[in-house]
Amino acid sequence: ATNFVIEGLKASIEGKEILKGINLEMKGGEIHAIMGPNGTGKSTLASALMGHPKYEVTDGKVSLNGEDVLDMAVDERARAGLFLAMQYPSEISGVTNSDFLRSAINARREEGSEISLIRFIRQMEAKMKELDMNPEFLHRYLNEGFSGGEKKRNEILQMMMLDPKLIILDEIDSGLDIDALKIVASGVNAMRSEDRGFLIITHYQRLLNYINPDFVHVMMQGRIVKSGGPELSERLEAEGYDWVKEELGIED
Ligand code: ADP
Ligand code: MG
Ligand code: MG
Repeated sequence: ATNFVIEGLKASIEGKEILKGINLEMKGGEIHAIMGPNGTGKSTLASALMGHPKYEVTDGKVSLNGEDVLDMAVDERARAGLFLAMQYPSEISGVTNSDFLRSAINARREEGSEISLIRFIRQMEAKMKELDMNPEFLHRYLNEGFSGGEKKRNEILQMMMLDPKLIILDEIDSGLDIDALKIVASGVNAMRSEDRGFLIITHYQRLLNYINPDFVHVMMQGRIVKSGGPELSERLEAEGYDWVKEELGIED
């Protein structure tokens, strides 16, 4: 079972400290939600975990199944099973969806054990059927001209094909209508397994109506300041964040 541990993680952007000591422990099969007001460092946490060069990690430890994540280069993190789905997936002109996915899969494999084209296409077709996606998507340029819902469906397809160990969704729900929200949620729910953890970053409760998190964490000013169960996200939805600030004596 997957084990993911973040201990005392600090990170800076352009010399400014954003993450001020994040602690989090996740076990396989668990879904953790991170909620918090804008600008509190949620996306910074996702980027720092993935090894984005803009973010300098200044302290702390991160391990996935006992392996030191911070020690890994970006591509090694992906190979180790980290996956980040973003709020705004990038469009890549001239690269088809199928080319992109096949090279992403092969980049995660040892040299010499690349997936065969036949096998890859068979797997893609099966997953696309599950997601009710039109097969023509395989041959379209990555995300170019995709609607919001199509992009999300495509992110879920990538997730299914790559079979990651730790999936981070950063505000994947923003701007989604209910149908697209349900697609994301059912993809996540279908992928729940003992060998996989989910870290779901979201501003709103609505995605959590369809994905039941085991734990909810509130992030403020670069720290996780409160943790609880699903009832915490319901209260945040109803009452906002002010009561947390008052309870903990946090000033704006
Ligand atoms: P959240 O995802 O919780 O809204 P972010 O992690 O995006 O918060 O941002 C945290 C803080 O870091 C904010 O004050 C933001 O202005 C700052 N920040 C984020 N990205 C950058 C960047 N690329 N350059 C400079 N400052 C940034
Ligand atoms: Mg933000
Ligand atoms: Mg963000």
